[in-house]
Amino acid sequence: MLNIILFGPPGAGKGTQSSRLIQKYGLVHLSTGDVFRYNIKNETELGLMAKRYIDQGKLVPDEVTNNMVKDFIQRNSNSNGFIFDGYPRTIAQGENLATVLREMNAQVTCMMALQVDEDELVNRLLERGKTSGRPDDQDESIIRNRFKVYNDETSPLADYYNKQGKYIAVHGMGSIDDIFRDLCTAIDQVI
Ligand code: AMP
Repeated sequence: MLNIILFGPPGAGKGTQSSRLIQKYGLVHLSTGDVFRYNIKNETELGLMAKRYIDQGKLVPDEVTNNMVKDFIQRNSNSNGFIFDGYPRTIAQGENLATVLREMNAQVTCMMALQVDEDELVNRLLERGKTSGRPDDQDESIIRNRFKVYNDETSPLADYYNKQGKYIAVHGMGSIDDIFRDLCTAIDQVI
């Protein structure tokens, strides 16, 4: 199995690049943000609960997110592998992912971390907010809070995977095609 974590702050281009990577490598895309938004749209119990956190730019509690991810991975256990987009976001989530994959005799192949300047990110998110309909992309204070959460809770995962020899930094500025090419080059070197 090829299990790639696409890592980076909000607005780094994880969603855009994931869509291309799943096609090229025949992988299943798991965007925890997309799963939450789907549940919000359908007014499920999970969606109503998650909305309270997402609207403030906070993380949905680990237990809820981890159970949702476990269920998703197990339902897709016959696939070639996954692109994890927006997951894990805490060390506890990273440990859950390792456990769930280990139960299937699999593991994380690598974490590819998109590097983008923060000013560029704010501009990209505000621009995306004009068309995405995402309330958390339309308010600069919520965006800033998402960066704070990223820096405090999510960025330690870079070190967590670096220590496992799985961390790969990829330049995340420039054209979508150029970034995609660099991601593919990096993936082709580890498979
Ligand atoms: P995203 O689409 O990845 O930018 O996620 C949008 C929002 O969904 C985040 O700001 C969080 O509130 C929530 N979310 C997405 N993924 C996770 C996760 N792995 N853990 C906790 N909350 C998450």
